[in-house]
Amino acid sequence: MHEKMTLLRELQEVDQELTELATVRAKHEGELQDLSAEENRIQEMVDELNAQLDVLQKEDAQLQQEVLAERDQIVKVESRLPEIQTQKEYVAVLKEIDMAKKASLDSQAKITVKETELTELMADLDEKQTELDAISEKSSARQAEVDKILAESDKTCAARQTTRDSLAKDLPNSLLSKYQRIFSRRGGLAVARVVEGACLGCNMQLPPQQYNRLHQGNELQSCPHCNRLLYMDRQ
Ligand SMILES: [Zn+2]
Repeated sequence: MHEKMTLLRELQEVDQELTELATVRAKHEGELQDLSAEENRIQEMVDELNAQLDVLQKEDAQLQQEVLAERDQIVKVESRLPEIQTQKEYVAVLKEIDMAKKASLDSQAKITVKETELTELMADLDEKQTELDAISEKSSARQAEVDKILAESDKTCAARQTTRDSLAKDLPNSLLSKYQRIFSRRGGLAVARVVEGACLGCNMQLPPQQYNRLHQGNELQSCPHCNRLLYMDRQ
């Protein structure tokens, strides 16, 4: 009976270590996911600013085209001046020139506004791109560190798993599955020490008869309160 309990205690130690390794792994993976989510969030902002920049640049180019067309129009209308014969026609052409000049000034004013917007947008974009570069750098540096840690952890896990397999094969299947059931249901503690008649898994007192049987050490005892398998330290 002592041998089985010794095996169970060793098994529990290995399983606790494996659980701890899995917890640490999950923590590292979560950290990388958070970094990646942050990187994606900023990337989306950069993409959005680039799309806005594209629209503004197209609008700016359109306005530049309009200004050119308006200048052509002024030249074209002005070229008609020498051929004018009546006062009425002269007034009409002057009015047309005046309108074309106003339209041109108007377009140039719009270009000034557009270019101010472009300058501001490019500054925003520059700032976000810098932020993105910083987080990408941090993310890949951390990824490299975590990859190393996890590779180390995988080696440890594989070694512990081998130990676990060799311990488990010496235990009867029914006892092993009972142990596993309790281990997963009882927060990773299936085998509990008894001190001064109390189970340290749940801190409840054992009935005196059971305590006596435990002392005799002939059979494995389960705590009647938490069902954990019990052992006592031998003097
Ligand atoms: Zn208990």
